[in-house]
Amino acid sequence: GKVLVTGANGYIAVWVVKAFLDQGFSVRGTVRSESKATHLRSLFKSFGDKFEVVIVEDITKEGAFDEAVKDIDAIAHTASPFHFKAEDPDELIIPAVHGTTGILASALKRGSSVKRVVVTSSCASVLTPTTEPRVFSEEDWNEASIAEVKEKGRAASSPAKYRASKTLAERAAWDFWNKHKSEVRWDLVVVNPPFVFGPFLHEVDKPENLNESARDWYDTVVKGTKDNDALVTIGSSYVDVRDLAQGHLLAVTKQEASGERIIVSAGPWKWQDFVNTAHRLRPSLPAGNTSYDPATTVHLIRYSPDKERKLLGVKFRTIEETTKDTLDDFEARG
Ligand code: NDP
Repeated sequence: GKVLVTGANGYIAVWVVKAFLDQGFSVRGTVRSESKATHLRSLFKSFGDKFEVVIVEDITKEGAFDEAVKDIDAIAHTASPFHFKAEDPDELIIPAVHGTTGILASALKRGSSVKRVVVTSSCASVLTPTTEPRVFSEEDWNEASIAEVKEKGRAASSPAKYRASKTLAERAAWDFWNKHKSEVRWDLVVVNPPFVFGPFLHEVDKPENLNESARDWYDTVVKGTKDNDALVTIGSSYVDVRDLAQGHLLAVTKQEASGERIIVSAGPWKWQDFVNTAHRLRPSLPAGNTSYDPATTVHLIRYSPDKERKLLGVKFRTIEETTKDTLDDFEARG
């Protein structure tokens, strides 16, 4: 089979491409410009003509993916902006929403061989900030960020802008699917990862230019940029980027995943969990907050692992494995 991966040069997407190629699939990746194709072509050279790159300059343009979906069996739509620099929330919302509805429209119109579409959403479209510990599941939707952006516009917080873009994009995907499911031969699966960490294969000249989540990890764990309070109070859940790629592969190949929204999470952390692990592996790295007790820390937001276990069953890497491989990777690159 042949899989279309959008935004193929992204941190997560490169591992998704690799997971499919390693499984024997052919992959067509989309990038925004020719300059972003070069690194990918050399990275996957050993797969010969099983890997190709096509340019889709503007994913928000109507019919942008009409050519790209031809002869494709499955689609993994990962392209979407993830950064906290947007003034105008529409800088995130428009590409997130129109990129998603655009690829689905192309699959509807031109994707006669498409059997499954997997959309990379996020736990950002699941969670609601909370002051009491709470376990979130696939039943939950982040209405709060949409409301904040609607009310405050440009003055909304940066996380709210990003989270609103992901929530609105995922909702648009399900709305599109519900409206058109009787006309198409494909079904929809959505994967919702929390923070994604781990080694990188995508093109990055220096750590400062890493994608949002990997750069936050590097700044905190290697550079020691967070204060002692932040290290033990700020946390979330994580998934190793290689396990998330496996999650995308299983979301395409497992029949049972059909029509499901699936949280793909390895478990909760506070920054100090990664700092402790990294410091143990490399004593020259910052020790951080030495008063931290992982046994008594409270994780306000947790995610239910049940659906993922039942439908996909990824074997998740531990904090230790992810940390070790990420540090090895940074060192290998100098
Ligand atoms: P990256 O920034 O590494 O990759 C983002 C990809 O999307 C790139 O290919 C980028 O292309 C493309 N993209 C961004 N903005 C646009 C736009 N306006 N038009 C077209 N393409 C665009 O981030 P990640 O790999 O981390 O993110 C990939 C997906 O995973 C996103 O959907 C993100 O929301 C989601 N996600 C990420 C998490 C994380 O912790 N990293 C957690 C949960 C979900 P270009 O290089 O040309 O800008």
